[in-house]
Amino acid sequence: MVLQRIFRAVIMGPPGSGKGTVSARITKTFGLKHISSGDILRANVNAQTELGLLMKSSIDQGQLVPDDVMSRLILRDLRAMDQSSWLIDGFPRTVFQSEALDDAYRVDTVINLNVPFQTIKQRLTSRWTHLASGRVYNIDFNPPKVSGLDDETGEPLVQRDDDTPETVMRRLKAYQTQTEPVLEYYRSKGILQIFSGTETNKIWPHVEAFLHRKLSPVEQKVA
Ligand code: ATP
Ligand code: MG
Repeated sequence: MVLQRIFRAVIMGPPGSGKGTVSARITKTFGLKHISSGDILRANVNAQTELGLLMKSSIDQGQLVPDDVMSRLILRDLRAMDQSSWLIDGFPRTVFQSEALDDAYRVDTVINLNVPFQTIKQRLTSRWTHLASGRVYNIDFNPPKVSGLDDETGEPLVQRDDDTPETVMRRLKAYQTQTEPVLEYYRSKGILQIFSGTETNKIWPHVEAFLHRKLSPVEQKVA
């Protein structure tokens, strides 16, 4: 499908709510660019950049990295795709960050994946990631074709250092205290769209239908 104008979206949801998986489907179906704050940070940690080394302990402990660092990183990447439609995953995570984003761009839609915490705790501890691409697998419901290997590259999958049970709890806490206010922020702007469920495969068709309506106003009028 061809986009008719620049479309800017944010995808939110607690850690492990399926943002990575849904984002991949959105970018594939609708052709927008995707940036993930967690993937950017992990790439820095992996490449042992100065920033990565500084941020590694916060990330491993399930704490947010400083707002100014995160905002600068994301806004720099967004500037490089000024003429494209995009979807951001993992940012903004605090009201400070949403204001920083607002100062630079008008966000059209915020998709919130509303998944119960109980479901999330089970999921995160059985999750495997392909570090280079950010592709995620779950040994219970979305296993790779060959155990332990990425479907597309055949490279090994790793379990994230921050997917241990205690760290998962800390990330959920950080989400409740620091990120839930962001949902309120976008609700008050009238751009928050909530999708509730416990399974990504059941949530996805609703997200897809919603975006089809958003992204093809012409077809909408004809219908
Ligand atoms: P999932 O990837 O399953 O959605 P998540 O949302 O907890 O889980 P990431 O988005 O990959 O994980 O982020 C991993 C870590 O990177 C966070 O716990 C935090 O330390 C840091 N981080 C990512 N995005 C931000 C942000 N916008 N602000 C501050 N820290 C961030
Ligand atoms: Mg993620």
